[in-house]
Amino acid sequence: MKSIALVAHDGKKPELLTWVKQHSDFFHGKILYATGTTGQLIEQALQQQVNCLTSGPLGGDQQIGALIAEQKIDWLVFFWDPLSSQPHDPDVKALIRLAVVWNIPVACNQATADFIIHSSLLQTDYQRAVPDFSAYLQRLRKP
Ligand code: PGA
Repeated sequence: MKSIALVAHDGKKPELLTWVKQHSDFFHGKILYATGTTGQLIEQALQQQVNCLTSGPLGGDQQIGALIAEQKIDWLVFFWDPLSSQPHDPDVKALIRLAVVWNIPVACNQATADFIIHSSLLQTDYQRAVPDFSAYLQRLRKP
């Protein structure tokens, strides 16, 4: 659990910031990625470097999705706002989909994030099962 991506929609940013500050010890020394605005706020809150991507509506969610597909992310914390519509809703769906495709833990709310951060598996060398897509790719290549 070395590399963590964090995203929060505007209505959920205060909740995410409070939560990361509560767990600042855990985040110390981790490689953090975040969409633009979320990342700047976390950087200020934790006084720690965050790899800030583009803002979510401008492609940041897709950039995080690409990092997941490259297997560079171990955990996605994504506090999306179920009570407001987003211009980039298809990107939101795509990001959650890729997290499931690549079998990484995803926390979409604080309770789930709490359960994961207190998981005993964090203390182990947990080997996430990486899906084998070779049969799928072979099917695609058939004429
Ligand atoms: P932001 O993007 O961190 O740049 O606000 C988050 C999002 O809306 O996906």
